[in-house]
Amino acid sequence: MSFIRRQCAKSLLVLCAASAYFTTVFAQELDAQRLAPKADAHRLLINEVDRGQTLLRNLEEMCDGIGPRLTGSIELRRAQQWAMAKLSAYGAIDVHEEAYDMGKPWVRGQSSARLLNANQQAINMVQRAWTTSSTGKVRGDVEILKAQSLDELRAAIPRIKGKIVLALALPSPNAEQKKNLALFSQEYNAIISEANMAAVLFISEREGSILDMNGSPKARLKHNVGIIGKEHANLLQRLIARGIKPKLELQFGGKFSPQPALAYNVLADIRGSELPDEMLIIGVHQDSWDLATGATDNGVGVVLAMEVLRGIQASKLPIKRSLRVVLFSGEEQGLMGSKAYVERHLAEMPKVQAMLTVDAGAGRIIGFPDMQVDAWYSALSEIAANTNGLHQLDIVYAHSKGSDHESFYERGVPAFSAIQEPLDYMSHTWHSEVDTIDHVKPEYLVHNAKVLGLLSLSLLNAPKLPHQANPKSP
Ligand SMILES: [Zn+2]
Repeated sequence: MSFIRRQCAKSLLVLCAASAYFTTVFAQELDAQRLAPKADAHRLLINEVDRGQTLLRNLEEMCDGIGPRLTGSIELRRAQQWAMAKLSAYGAIDVHEEAYDMGKPWVRGQSSARLLNANQQAINMVQRAWTTSSTGKVRGDVEILKAQSLDELRAAIPRIKGKIVLALALPSPNAEQKKNLALFSQEYNAIISEANMAAVLFISEREGSILDMNGSPKARLKHNVGIIGKEHANLLQRLIARGIKPKLELQFGGKFSPQPALAYNVLADIRGSELPDEMLIIGVHQDSWDLATGATDNGVGVVLAMEVLRGIQASKLPIKRSLRVVLFSGEEQGLMGSKAYVERHLAEMPKVQAMLTVDAGAGRIIGFPDMQVDAWYSALSEIAANTNGLHQLDIVYAHSKGSDHESFYERGVPAFSAIQEPLDYMSHTWHSEVDTIDHVKPEYLVHNAKVLGLLSLSLLNAPKLPHQANPKSP
């Protein structure tokens, strides 16, 4: 569970690190002119973004028109077809899809939960994705599980066996156990298997009873898993504290598709004039969780990437390198799409100038982490100076995790995930049932398209960024 939750964590860590370094960035003298595209190129691109008015319209078409885009779903396939048609219309070349094996898709069904005793109220519960359906109703007493270590988990077996377990804490590997994660997983799974719980309930991390979602085809959970809101979890705990054992009746209707399937990434290019084999990749994930329409995670990233391609193409701006937009799938299940892309394009990795992603919600882009590579800090600082007319970006000494840039970073490619104003991303929309366009500010979308466009223009024309020979594992 923690692995998957980390995949899209958008790193509060980075945001925290960002504030710590705000005072020291731009300490060095910047030579903005050396890498700056001509001012008229800036103006052309900015004017084109203003003129196009495509961002919100595209977001509405994809999110409100097509809907949630769970990897493996028909809706994601529709969204991919929609994006390919748009990108082709924008003048992109070689617009196509690349397939990879995603395992078995998962389809949501009806789920329900209610208290059979106490006040007998309905409990708002959703089934965790990629978990098994129940055969009929699951009824049982609720037990609280708070286990920080494998020993504590093992000791809890007699108490939680066959019960509906409200999981407040589960063990994660300590420093010693991290040296042999396979062994840790083996022991963990053996204990969980022996416990043979009727169901496990996790608590949503969002505020105000908002439910969130996670899960992956890689998980092989045998028991039913649900997610409930904080307030209902508090109710169950209060009842237990008063000596009343809550009895729940649960139903889980979501299930696996019978057969494994392929998932797809979408690719679209604009050819560079001098170094067409070298490319800047703007890579964002198009898949979303299925409780809402994935407007902030990551509909905004998709329309931004598409708009940068459209803006550069429509402005007829000269670019030395090629620009490639990749719309990944499977990000939410563990970066599946970007890993498949990098594997397939391994020979091209040395020619990737940089990979940029935007995947931290709908807030304004305020900077980029340098991934703790000095040469990248210098290059990014110079390039970021080109956006000063719009926003002074902070290049931060930090290593960010949690999105598709990781897959490229692991191969030494300069790969950066934008730091954004948090807005209500972590508190409300991230992976949640309220991840809708209501939480997107159109003016920030426009702002981000201009910032990302100017950065991209610089990277397409700037001297080649060095790659890392032996990148640190993220
Ligand atoms: Zn995301």
